Amino acid sequence: MLIDPTGREFSYLRLSITDVCNFKCVYCLPDGYQGGQERGFLSVNEISNTLKAFAHHGIEKVRITGGEPTLRKDFIDVIRVAKDTSGIKKIAATTNGFSLHKNIHNWVDAGLNAINVSIDTLDPRMFNTITGHDKFASVMSGIDTALETGIESVKINSVLMKQYNGQEFETFLNWIKHRPVTIRFIELMQTSDNKTFFDANHVSGQSLKVKLLQSGWQQVARSASAGPAQEFAHPDYQGKIGLIMPYSNDFCSTCNRLRVTAKGNLHLCLFSEEGISLREYMGDNANTALMDLLSRYIKTKKPTHLLHQGNTGITTNLSMLGG
Ligand code: SAM
Ligand code: SF4
Repeated sequence: MLIDPTGREFSYLRLSITDVCNFKCVYCLPDGYQGGQERGFLSVNEISNTLKAFAHHGIEKVRITGGEPTLRKDFIDVIRVAKDTSGIKKIAATTNGFSLHKNIHNWVDAGLNAINVSIDTLDPRMFNTITGHDKFASVMSGIDTALETGIESVKINSVLMKQYNGQEFETFLNWIKHRPVTIRFIELMQTSDNKTFFDANHVSGQSLKVKLLQSGWQQVARSASAGPAQEFAHPDYQGKIGLIMPYSNDFCSTCNRLRVTAKGNLHLCLFSEEGISLREYMGDNANTALMDLLSRYIKTKKPTHLLHQGNTGITTNLSMLGG
């Protein structure tokens, strides 16, 4: 296992496969993707070698993310190589859902076990305001198609923002009354380029937790390879709620995940160091060296991020690190 100095064990890898995105979410890429033509993202072969090294160290779950991961033409090949990696038991992806309705069947056939779809509002006009795209109906139909495939897990990611969808908490709760879907409210995070937006729009996750507990929702126990959310269930609702609260005091104590960027940098935290490049160890003959490097580098992981002090590390926006 990869174990850091505070004793945390890592079983979950978030792998970004592209920085590019076709949406302009107000909290992430308000001006759209600004990168140039030079892409240089990891090849499927490099991804395969990387997954082998992580799996050797006990990584069991991989989440494919971005940018918008499904923009890659070889997205399905990435799912396949993950599926073929001995030791990887769960393959998840996070998407804005723009092509879900067309492709989810193929992705599930290729081995995808879980899909998280980001949808911040149940109002089509607000969807357009937040993402810059008139795709609400298509994303919603994709979610229904995903449920029909029988995939193990369909989750919705939603960021509540005071000046946009801040009033939709109850609407989301009603929506999962008869749908077996988990909605994860991700607390808006400050990055190095969104301070003004953050100050105007941040909704505390703790306030949502209080509302849930007051209306009969109960917190459920967390499994070892679970993501960062605190989960809640209610006997009258088919769906569940997850709260991702990076500003809560004990958020870092349950950290079990590592991140690799689309260009092959390993980050031990979403909000800290610059990461180290694994790229030169991703070729076919360097797997042992990569495994050794992982064992050594994990010993430098810090106990906690410094978000509370407004220190966002080097993260300009979450599309560059996969959220
Ligand atoms: N494009 C895909 C999507 O939107 O699902 C995957 C990448 S996106 C960076 C991953 C998640 O990060 C999304 O659910 C998005 O809502 C969330 N996210 C992006 N910026 C954020 C921020 N500043 N605070 C909180 N969540 C954020
Ligand atoms: Fe794109 Fe996802 Fe960022 Fe929205 S949150 S701009 S869909 S990367």
